[in-house]
Amino acid sequence: MTQPIAKSASPRVGFVSLGCPKALVDSERILTQLKVEGYDLVPSYDDADVVVVNTCGFIDSAVAESLDAIGEAMAENGKVIVTGCLGKREEVIREAHPGVLSISGPQDYASVMSAVHSALPPKHDPFVDLVPRRHSDEAADVGIKLTPKHYAYLKISEGCNHRCSFCIIPSMRGDLVSRPVDQVLREAEKLAMGGVRELLVISQDTSAYGVDLRYAEREWRGRAWQTRMKALCEGLSELGIWTRLHYVYPYPHVDDVIPLMAETGPDGMRRLLPYLDIPFQHANPRILKLMKRPGAVDRTLERIRRWREICPDITIRSTFIVGFPGETDGEFEQLLDFLEEAQLDRVGAFAYSPVEGAAANGLPDPVPEELKQERLARFMELQADISTARLEAKVGTVQRCLVDAIDGELAIARSMADAPEIDGLVQIQNGFEAGLKPGEFVDVEILGSDEHDLYGEVAFDD
Ligand code: SF4
Repeated sequence: MTQPIAKSASPRVGFVSLGCPKALVDSERILTQLKVEGYDLVPSYDDADVVVVNTCGFIDSAVAESLDAIGEAMAENGKVIVTGCLGKREEVIREAHPGVLSISGPQDYASVMSAVHSALPPKHDPFVDLVPRRHSDEAADVGIKLTPKHYAYLKISEGCNHRCSFCIIPSMRGDLVSRPVDQVLREAEKLAMGGVRELLVISQDTSAYGVDLRYAEREWRGRAWQTRMKALCEGLSELGIWTRLHYVYPYPHVDDVIPLMAETGPDGMRRLLPYLDIPFQHANPRILKLMKRPGAVDRTLERIRRWREICPDITIRSTFIVGFPGETDGEFEQLLDFLEEAQLDRVGAFAYSPVEGAAANGLPDPVPEELKQERLARFMELQADISTARLEAKVGTVQRCLVDAIDGELAIARSMADAPEIDGLVQIQNGFEAGLKPGEFVDVEILGSDEHDLYGEVAFDD
């Protein structure tokens, strides 16, 4: 007689993760905790006993996407716990979806877990029999990751002490709270031991790291390290893997980490990837002042020149807002001049759009929508030419790359200049033939380029 197949006795949770890399890290933390407590994570609404939706609330389109995702989970499953940035605006969620079980804000892991516990009690006592392995298998104790195995986001702080007038992140996430440096370095070390080859350092403001802790010194690997961006980078450089800095606010002390980007460690790796994600937002001093951002544009150009002298292959990525309230034709032209002069490698741009609750909404002289879009198109057209030329200049060089995937004959990789998901790729034509595997470093001879990507072949020594 055949036995009926027993259904999993563990309580089952579905999870929907929306938003930026910082929200992704929150999702990973919650998923890890769920797993630790014995919950099964299931991929469909039908299989789930309850669904957690981690939302984004940064701009209006993200709010709409989050509300849709909650609505879908309500319709398909009916037992829904909401967390994340939109959770800060409980009334918006309650109005659209009054039946959700619980609402909490970003990083409020405790509230999410207590909502899960009341909807779906855990099967085991986590403190008795589900504590993850710690001593016997350190490398396995790296939590649940939503990124491919060979790269990981490393969140070093939450919140932001700035008050840029177009941004509501500080009101949603609060002032800067840094994680002590030893905690971050230990997490990074575990990730490296678990097979991670690239760390993406994220926060709201990476260069302010540690200021709230007065740069407290902590011990790691028997030495003292300051909770400070430069010391953190030096510590991470000991791991022999790639470290990439994101969301670096343009403070003067950013200059201190550029020499590390030019240095090669004993393992042949750059101590810090020559890559700087540094949002400038605009280039006109008056607009920058209205944005409540640093406004010394000549100094910015001078600094970029110096960074390139120290580290000639540095990749500079930045973001800009066009059509900010009051932006005149002349001020926009100044932005284009800056772009032409700075020759940045990667640029993201947005037409200004008011975000509910942002101080900039009260500024006079909004730029008409059509003009904003026209300016955005001109801006992007100029940058497309710059990016294309800068990639073309790499043809004939050999670039160290990290393989992300194998696709038929090709290996899809990224060079030191390419952050996952936001930058370009390197297509390695003979990647399969060369036996490449995801997570492997390889030197690639660059044979061609376009506006975003590079094309090449594995470079053999002889
Ligand atoms: S530095 Fe970034 S997160 Fe902080 S207020 Fe400005 S835009 Fe927002």
